[in-house]
Amino acid sequence: GSKSKVTVVGSGNWGSVAAKLIASNTLKLNSFHDEVRMWVFEETLQTGEKLTDVINKTNENVKYLPGIKLGKNVIADPDLDNAVKDANMLVFVTPHQFMEGICKRLVGKVRGEVEAISLIKGMEVKMEGPCMISNLISEQLGINCSVLMGANIANEIAVEKFSEATVGYRDNREIAEQWVKLFSTPYFMVTPVQDVEGVELCGTLKNVVAIAAGFVDGLDMGNNTKAAIMRIGLREMRAFSKLLFSSVRDSTFFESCGVADVITTCLGGRNRKVAEAFARNGGKRSFDELEAEMLQGQKLQGVSTAREVYEVLSHRGWLELFPLFATVHEICVGRLPPSAIVEYSEKKPRLS
Ligand code: NAD
Ligand code: 13P
Repeated sequence: GSKSKVTVVGSGNWGSVAAKLIASNTLKLNSFHDEVRMWVFEETLQTGEKLTDVINKTNENVKYLPGIKLGKNVIADPDLDNAVKDANMLVFVTPHQFMEGICKRLVGKVRGEVEAISLIKGMEVKMEGPCMISNLISEQLGINCSVLMGANIANEIAVEKFSEATVGYRDNREIAEQWVKLFSTPYFMVTPVQDVEGVELCGTLKNVVAIAAGFVDGLDMGNNTKAAIMRIGLREMRAFSKLLFSSVRDSTFFESCGVADVITTCLGGRNRKVAEAFARNGGKRSFDELEAEMLQGQKLQGVSTAREVYEVLSHRGWLELFPLFATVHEICVGRLPPSAIVEYSEKKPRLS
């Protein structure tokens, strides 16, 4: 049969690592074209050079993943339409807030038989209610979209330290196997699970828990408190997911995308790091300011996700059922002090 052609839409910290993983496999596997196209949101570096040119010259994303060779078969492309036009496998991996705009630009531009996968942790909240990013992609572009989530701090995978991940798929096992093949390496072990909503909600909601864990670190509360936050957070993740989609499975929370991602993000993630700084400053410096200063262009997902979750909770009258999620948002916007995270979370979530 004909070979599959892969394009990665996105080229941040995780996007670049995803391109590296994929590119190492397309070289080895006969069923894929060697070349992996990577769409880059173009920017001019301090040196005056275009990021795309530097990536193609040095084979490194010097801004978002410095020091790591992506593989010579990764081609950076600043033209979104051109990057997707020949692809029949699309990998979406941008900060979630940019996906609505990207989808709008892609309407009518992708081939009919395209399969997509989203590595994006986040959701949109519309008038009709919450919309997962895989769903946004599916609906706007008329294509099937799986997801890949997990305990995957990009910088660790970039240097080939072992980790696991979960592919969530809707109903086509063969397509899930195709994605597993494309991503798996000896240091990246991917397991397919037939629960696309559960997997995506795990990846999305754990970023809110990570903000809470960062507050606890900033307050010097110690390990027991942080473990309590992680446990309560995981229970709220499960309760929220099941209220939105009754099909979500308990077992999904024991996959890499669930408990393992909660743990790694609460220990070593960017959301945790910036939330710690926020609490140490007593909430006096905004997340936007701290993000810009601490992350050099990388983006947090937890603060906006907390707001999006809060909107859903207040629309549906569920605020009291989710004290941890609700409190994270109220701290982020300055309605409560960072210390409220422990005061409020002492109350046991009523849904369990
Ligand atoms: P990032 O945090 O490095 O964000 C920077 C990227 O955003 C750059 O590619 C930049 O060009 C792009 N960008 C900035 N403004 C833009 C705009 N207006 N339009 C489009 N793009 C714009 O990105 P990332 O780390 O690749 O994260 C992407 C997704 O992957 C997120 O949902 C994140 O939660 C998830 N994720 C990240 C990690 C990680 O360790 N970094 C791990 C797993 C999952
Ligand atoms: P942060 O965005 O908090 O760094 O989390 C990365 C991640 O999703 C790890 O799986």
